[in-house]
Amino acid sequence: MLNDTKALAKGFWTTFKHIVRPPITVRYPDEKRTTAAKFRGRHRLYRDEDGLERCIGCELCAAACPSQAILVRAEENDPSRPVSPGERFASVYEINMIRCIFCGFCEEACPVDAIKLGPEYELSDFKRPDFVYTKEMLLDPEKNAPPTQFHADVERSTDERGVHTALGTVYRSHHPIGAPDPRPPVPTEAQAGDNEDPA
Ligand code: SF4
Ligand code: SF4
Repeated sequence: MLNDTKALAKGFWTTFKHIVRPPITVRYPDEKRTTAAKFRGRHRLYRDEDGLERCIGCELCAAACPSQAILVRAEENDPSRPVSPGERFASVYEINMIRCIFCGFCEEACPVDAIKLGPEYELSDFKRPDFVYTKEMLLDPEKNAPPTQFHADVERSTDERGVHTALGTVYRSHHPIGAPDPRPPVPTEAQAGDNEDPA
């Protein structure tokens, strides 16, 4: 009985504590909260500084994946034109994002830090095939990922300020609330007028 009362009081204390706190309203999707440092969102494959793909096609990530979401097909590197620093490279690398549970095991299993889960969490899409992310989409999402993979800003060809936003710009414009907006400033009407062709 005493324990029940204590538990009840503790529960009500939590409620009352929050009543006096100011509400936190985030105007999503115009504002985005910073994800935690260890947040596990969309995967990305990385290259070395010399441009070679880090992935050596070892398939450890696929073996570690509890959802069998990863498909890797490896091929031998041509020594005259290597794709990766290893003996082999991934000729096919696909992640089925419908299966993925964002556990991060693939990232942990990778011996060369070729795959990492990043902060991107706006991953809804409409067609099943679009959820299979190919190697090209994972290596260069700015260039190769379908626009709907990211967020609503991408679906519109202009952002909330009426500025055209290429996918890469939108992807990079994911910035925490309060952080400086990385996008170039919009010219004022006067500046835009100065640039108009007088003819
Ligand atoms: S995050 Fe987990 S479920 Fe998703 S692909 Fe990696 S290992 Fe598989
Ligand atoms: S991403 Fe890493 S673990 Fe997966 S195949 Fe490539 S090198 Fe191996």
